[in-house]
Amino acid sequence: MSTLQFYNALGRKKQAFEPLEAGRVRIYSCGPTVYSHQHIGNMRAYVFADVLKRTLRAFGFEVRHVINVTDVGHLTDDADAGADKMELAAQRSGESVWEIADRFTRIFKDDLAKLHVEPPDVWARATDHIAEQIEMIQRLEARGATYAISDGIYFDTSTAPHYGELLQNVDLEAQQAQDRIEQAQAKRNPADFALWKLSPSDGPRRQMEWPSPWGRGFPGWHIECSAMAEKHLGVPFDIHTGGVDHIPVHHTNEIVQTELATGVRPCVRFWMHNGWLMMDGEKISKSKGNTIVLDDLEAKQVDPLVLRYFLLNTHYRQQTSFTSDALEGARAAYARLRRHAVEVAAEAAAEAGQGGESRGAAVVGELSERFRSALADDLNTPQALAVLWEVVRSRELGSREKQQLLREFDAVLALGLADAQPEVQESDARIDALMAERQQARAQRDFARADEIRDQLRAEGIEIEDGPEGPRWRRA
Ligand SMILES: [Zn+2]
Repeated sequence: MSTLQFYNALGRKKQAFEPLEAGRVRIYSCGPTVYSHQHIGNMRAYVFADVLKRTLRAFGFEVRHVINVTDVGHLTDDADAGADKMELAAQRSGESVWEIADRFTRIFKDDLAKLHVEPPDVWARATDHIAEQIEMIQRLEARGATYAISDGIYFDTSTAPHYGELLQNVDLEAQQAQDRIEQAQAKRNPADFALWKLSPSDGPRRQMEWPSPWGRGFPGWHIECSAMAEKHLGVPFDIHTGGVDHIPVHHTNEIVQTELATGVRPCVRFWMHNGWLMMDGEKISKSKGNTIVLDDLEAKQVDPLVLRYFLLNTHYRQQTSFTSDALEGARAAYARLRRHAVEVAAEAAAEAGQGGESRGAAVVGELSERFRSALADDLNTPQALAVLWEVVRSRELGSREKQQLLREFDAVLALGLADAQPEVQESDARIDALMAERQQARAQRDFARADEIRDQLRAEGIEIEDGPEGPRWRRA
């Protein structure tokens, strides 16, 4: 029986995992800032958190999971400088910030569903938790950890003796973060960060701002996660996830705030981070202009589960490169896997009721144990996929045994393999024409028209599925 081992950024090594409360694991994942589409590099974080959650469940734990939605107060750089991304997006599109937040939150949730990422138990929206954030800042104030300057209330990092304990292994990134922070003026220490940003009394009014004991304004990004994690999970809790780029500033700041406000240390037992997804040797990022979103893949008739397969084929902590070759490789492998799964389902159905003794009970147990050991070893999904391939190719296993294993593995991998059915396409000239028009719209990146067609069909009770052989429709 394998025991779970996770790599913990706090301590920088793999450690045996046991939850604080027997049988129950509490997880917080840093969520998106909803001012634009989340690119596939962003989505890697949620596929990783999803595999973590499903693995914990496969090992018998109940999981409570919170993801935040940052709909306010995230500036164009981590270091409290620059404009508010939400307000900028609103200025550009002519929508209100609330409309922008709603639209991109909806798209984000749709994208998660396409990637078979389960929704969390709590979606925590920053703007629904202003009071909690103010209250936490007041606790920090009462402990003498804050000070006011002209543009806001700041956390004084010199009052936190443990500041920066996550940083030691990422000196370069920390240094870069530090350089940016040093550009801000009037702070007592370069690493100090904003808890509450004040709206300038003479400037244009922001669309999102609230009264506070310090004046009209909005909360900083870091305090949001500290306050919402405390509210929905309690402190301490078991696991906090995010991208590796959250370590030097966001998570470092979360730790000092939460620990000082609550007096609980450590506030989180395990800090787990996914590596970057690169493209052409660069990190995928909006500022580099090299983003790819799920819509772009679907426009190329790529099933979103191909992306999930691609991501699972690399260990979550490893940096990986998204290239067209890699995508084609993943597409072909995933299509083969699906075909195997369809065959297994068909053969198992044909065998049902025939009785028949088990041909490979010992092999089933051995493969199942190897699959679980791979996951238990810090979520080694490439290894888990290798075991999955052994199952579908096995000559020793009967199809019902294969099916049993596919179901067990797919509860964690969520690649749509359990009970895969051959796809039968009904034909209807009008619907087929709309489907073709939708494909053309997507190819031209006219996503508004493509969405409109999908909504129109949906209203008629017709669901579109983007499968490995391209989009198909069926009556719901
Ligand atoms: Zn966060």
